[in-house]
Amino acid sequence: MIESANCPCSSALPYDICCARYHSGTPAPNAQLLMQSRYAAYAKQLIDYIIKTSHPALAARNRDASKWKQELLKFVKATKFNGLKINEFVDGEVQATVTFTAFLMQGGRDVSFTEKSTFLKVGDAWLYHSGEKQKRPL
Ligand SMILES: [Zn+2]
Repeated sequence: MIESANCPCSSALPYDICCARYHSGTPAPNAQLLMQSRYAAYAKQLIDYIIKTSHPALAARNRDASKWKQELLKFVKATKFNGLKINEFVDGEVQATVTFTAFLMQGGRDVSFTEKSTFLKVGDAWLYHSGEKQKRPL
């Protein structure tokens, strides 16, 4: 794997100066960057980061942590992550929304989707709380 390749989050920056810093522990400064880093983490199969950046309310719905981890791992292994497009970012003090399109393929099938995600700030960390699938933009 070439680590100097462009970041999977579609920022057009090398991974090392993009989402790598968030994956290694620096809190993402806003919800859009957190969203991008989560997408990059899916693409790089960094399951622990996905779990770490999920709001406790979401984590509570996945009581069996090891099962949740297995499901995430199964999903990332079966999926090709072809890119991310941020459609809208509405910032706030403790709550923010990011509408994005994730370009995904599974077994040669286009499973891309658009979602409006809600993020909540807990301490100094933005966390993914919930998402609502949107109709695909034309
Ligand atoms: Zn990135």
